[in-house]
Amino acid sequence: MVSKMMYDLMIIGGGPGGLMAAAEASKHGLSFLLLEKNDKPGKKLLVTGGGQCNLTHVEPMKVLLSHYHEKSKFAGKAIKLFPPQELMKWFQREGIQMEVTGQGKVFPSSRKASDILNALLNRIHCKDEHLLCGVTVTSITKKTDHFLVMAGNEKWCTHNVLIATGGKSYPSLGTTGDGYRLAEMMGHHLVEARPALAALEIKHFSLDGLAGISLENIPIKLWRNEKKAGEFKGDVLITHDGISGPVILNNARYFKANDLLTMNLTKCDQQEMYQKHLKQLVEISGKKAVHSIIKLENVPRRLIDRLLELSGITPSLTCGNLTRDQRKEISKYMTALPLEIKQVKGYETAMATAGGVATDEVAGTSMASCLIDGLYFAGEVLNVDGMTGGYNLQFAFSSGFAAVADVCKKVKGKGV
Ligand SMILES: Cc1cc2nc3c(=O)[nH]c(=O)nc-3n(C[C@H](O)[C@H](O)[C@H](O)COP(=O)(O)OP(=O)(O)OC[C@H]3O[C@@H](n4cnc5c(N)ncnc54)[C@H](O)[C@@H]3O)c2cc1C
Repeated sequence: MVSKMMYDLMIIGGGPGGLMAAAEASKHGLSFLLLEKNDKPGKKLLVTGGGQCNLTHVEPMKVLLSHYHEKSKFAGKAIKLFPPQELMKWFQREGIQMEVTGQGKVFPSSRKASDILNALLNRIHCKDEHLLCGVTVTSITKKTDHFLVMAGNEKWCTHNVLIATGGKSYPSLGTTGDGYRLAEMMGHHLVEARPALAALEIKHFSLDGLAGISLENIPIKLWRNEKKAGEFKGDVLITHDGISGPVILNNARYFKANDLLTMNLTKCDQQEMYQKHLKQLVEISGKKAVHSIIKLENVPRRLIDRLLELSGITPSLTCGNLTRDQRKEISKYMTALPLEIKQVKGYETAMATAGGVATDEVAGTSMASCLIDGLYFAGEVLNVDGMTGGYNLQFAFSSGFAAVADVCKKVKGKGV
């Protein structure tokens, strides 16, 4: 069945990118329709930040943009148009108070993601007319001066269409990569998608039983084919089958199965330095048990004991009986704890997708396709992924906002 209506804009996907676009389209009086696959919009938004919704980050623009890996320049164009301060004001105008943490993360003061979703929905006047849920868009066809958007037997006509279908992470929330197929139908190219913001499963996990321990500001080296392939530093969380935490999540896009990570739990840069330090400690500690003299800043006892076990040391062994080789072995585990990656966890638990619609075919300031007039993209469907800390939501909101600003200019000569 073909709808008789010719819309100014059709939005595919009711995540933060699509909802911000719909709210802005409503504000500017565009005729528009948002189609959402799930029975309700914003399902992923509701689980962000553990249900608290870390919607953006306050810091100098240059620092903020450095959290989008090699896409800083592209992401920056939309973000400068609708930056964190404007995003916060937008929600404040809707009655949402904001809380900025000491690290600069921004949450609604209520710490309820549902408040953010409701604010977006409240901005969409006549929701029944503009939001259609339970509809999975299967194809888009470009006609001479409009698009035909299809979901099963239903068809709609529109002058402009925004693909805001998200990536592939958390497929249970509706994001199964549909937007990639729609973009390809329109002639766009894709950068291969892969999980981002994902935890690691470790082979023969030597830290099992220590889940929940978090370690601060740990230097980590990445080894591939026995060559150093990267260095990172940050907070690590031990899980039941591997490791997670901000430094792991943010760099998951660089890791592969069979890579080796080594973590330094000491304050010494080199194994030899720690070995020397240990020798001095041992010399003055004679009859004391080895486990009682090793104290690492912010490393809990349970983990130190496990490292001693891994080094083949009986915890009750006295310092006087510790051999040079044993000192060397302990120093090796303390300064370069080896963890071999079994797998980077998949889309089921990854919080974002790296890869997606190639950005060199999309104009960063307007989110308009460079290939097809009237086609737009917003959010995670694009080859843009940010680190943890509110960066992915900021980009989804900014890109949805930027797309509608451009549609407005075209449709009504209004601008925003
Ligand atoms: C557990 C978790 C926690 C997170 N926490 C944070 C956080 O605190 N801060 C942060 O910045 N980011 C966070 N993220 C990432 C953030 O949620 C996403 O980057 C963001 O939601 C992307 O927005 P989007 O609008 O592009 O797409 P999505 O939010 O993924 O929404 C896309 C929508 O499109 C719909 N759709 C898909 N295909 C079709 C189709 N064919 N037809 C119709 N509709 C379709 C989907 O059902 C979905 O509702 C988190 C992600 C997860 C999984």
